[in-house]
Amino acid sequence: MIIYKKVDDISKFLTRHRVSGKTIGLVPTMGALHDGHISLIRAGKKADDLTVCSIFVNPTQFNDKNDFEKYPITLETDIALLNDAGCDVLFLPSVDEVYPENSVLQQYDLGILELVLEGKYRPGHFQGVCQVVHRLLDIIQPTNLFLGQKDYQQCMVIQKLIELKSIDTALVICPTVREGSGLAMSSRNMRLSDNGRDAAVAICDSLVFIKQNINLKSIEALKKHVSEKLLTTGFTQIDYVEICNANTLESLNHYNPQIPTVVLIAAFIDGVRLIDNMLIS
Ligand code: AMP
Repeated sequence: MIIYKKVDDISKFLTRHRVSGKTIGLVPTMGALHDGHISLIRAGKKADDLTVCSIFVNPTQFNDKNDFEKYPITLETDIALLNDAGCDVLFLPSVDEVYPENSVLQQYDLGILELVLEGKYRPGHFQGVCQVVHRLLDIIQPTNLFLGQKDYQQCMVIQKLIELKSIDTALVICPTVREGSGLAMSSRNMRLSDNGRDAAVAICDSLVFIKQNINLKSIEALKKHVSEKLLTTGFTQIDYVEICNANTLESLNHYNPQIPTVVLIAAFIDGVRLIDNMLIS
């Protein structure tokens, strides 16, 4: 695996491959890699001639300074995992490479996507995500961009970015990889205590519960039941338990099997904010 830190160097390298007809897959990450990230690298390797992983903890997407400062950094292990997975290129830029002096940060018209769920609870987060992904797409110019369903709303935001800016890249959404317990893999899980990690399974259990009972109870009753359950299993704060139209993220009051539906949860345990989601139709 070749490691590049400078935009000019990786651009030159990728241009050489692009002109010789090679396709490029990009897997953007913030590091502290786990099997969820590696599943995206594998998808990239299947689809494209060259797989590029970026590791960059993007300051502009953190609305909580504490969360940014505590974000885990495990670079040596990350490099070993990427080597094992057969990743071709690692892009490891500094903040100055991604956001050079004098560059003006754009604002993106994300509509309702920025106002609901993560958008509501993390103001400015999706503007930061768009700023970094737009810049990475500009630098790498990938054929395919691989993202995880784990960050469902983020996938919708990036699809919107691609459309807004008429970017010639296809978005590939890969399934959420879970621990044997059902807990969605996340870099933030590293910050959980042993007890917290055990208790955090309640998020996945809640998604499954809603999926199994969607025809039996009202949406209101399901949300109430699950919220109470999470609070009794160790979660200290629930940002949302929502059942939404999977195409628009509008909140649903009644379940209609004709409407693609997604359940999304964000909640705190051990002071760590976890998110997860499940499609139910
Ligand atoms: P992050 O490093 O958390 O910004 O994530 C980088 C990419 O990995 C994003 O597209 C995430 O959606 C994806 N990802 C994170 N966790 C998982 C998981 N458990 N399964 C699949 N993809 C994931």
